[in-house]
Amino acid sequence: VTGRTTANGYGHTHQQLREQWAPIVATGTVVCTRYDHPQFPRCTGLIHPGDQWELGHNDQDKSIYTGPEHLTCNRRAGGLKRFGKLEPTQETNLEW
Ligand SMILES: [Zn+2]
Repeated sequence: VTGRTTANGYGHTHQQLREQWAPIVATGTVVCTRYDHPQFPRCTGLIHPGDQWELGHNDQDKSIYTGPEHLTCNRRAGGLKRFGKLEPTQETNLEW
């Protein structure tokens, strides 16, 4: 069962996590979670200060956040997912 896809996966936790990440991402030292993924050949890795970014979800479990990724990568992931073409990424273990 795939269920309906709604746009409201973004709740309170998402906001909080985003706020926690924001100052770290602003340092320009955070690497996009999609980096090194064969389906994201244009990902440049580091999210530079001032870049637009989004908090990525685990592709299998939407309740798990993987970490910051470029807005472009996030959109691409969303598009691939919609067509069922996104391949699983290797586990990314972001430690807090
Ligand atoms: Zn990226």
